[in-house]
Amino acid sequence: MKKVNYEDINIQKIAVHPLYQMMKVYLYFVDGVLVDTGPSVQRRNIIRAFRSWDVRQVAITHCHEDHVGMLRWVANNFPANIYSHTTAVPALSKQVKIPWYQGLFSSHQFESKVIPYPDSIRTSKFEFLPIETPGHSSDHVCLLEPNRGWLFSGDFYITPYPKVFLKGESIASYIDSLQKLSHYNFNTVLCAHEGVVPNGKEMMKRKLDYLQSTRHKVIQLHQKGYTDKEIIKYMFPEKVKLELMSFGSFSRLNFIRSCYQETGT
Ligand SMILES: [Zn+2]
Repeated sequence: MKKVNYEDINIQKIAVHPLYQMMKVYLYFVDGVLVDTGPSVQRRNIIRAFRSWDVRQVAITHCHEDHVGMLRWVANNFPANIYSHTTAVPALSKQVKIPWYQGLFSSHQFESKVIPYPDSIRTSKFEFLPIETPGHSSDHVCLLEPNRGWLFSGDFYITPYPKVFLKGESIASYIDSLQKLSHYNFNTVLCAHEGVVPNGKEMMKRKLDYLQSTRHKVIQLHQKGYTDKEIIKYMFPEKVKLELMSFGSFSRLNFIRSCYQETGT
């Protein structure tokens, strides 16, 4: 676990799982705003970090466990507004609610509410604009601080050259969202798994170019009658570490299928 700062942003770097030290999660805290809450498996370490932060507002980028795992603890320990994509509000509201029987014995002080993102989140020094960016998940939101050029990107960025997708990931949505982001001014991407990416705008542009050209190639192969297996062998012959580590939850097959299924070819 490591604490660092980038400009006015406090950053907590932690392993996504105690057994997977290679993969990291970065938690960001800036002027009272906490971006995502981290995985519950790191509960003890994360609580230690949170105790030194005065959380007033919580911005959820999307509902995967490593981003909302500690949400209930945060909701019960800080009088904070919690913002999420509209579609995620019912599930997250359920998650933060303490069952009445637990409430009798727990020492929690608050039950903060989950509400849909407003047009902007303001603090004394900054302003954060939520931008809907489906792709990694349908409920994904990035946060832009326009005056400082920061983009808190949750899991939207991670790498400009992905070869594996989760089942729900959509290359068509990624491309639309990347085109949308290209109209905003930002320099620094603050990624939940890669940390600070100083040339973030350029890297997002690379990701857009890569996804467009890769989708085009995959569709051509598919239309020529190549099977998924043959396309994988041709496009991504090397084994991918994340595919092995996630026991296939992230896979090249999901990526390939997303390329041609969504265009109806
Ligand atoms: Zn995710």
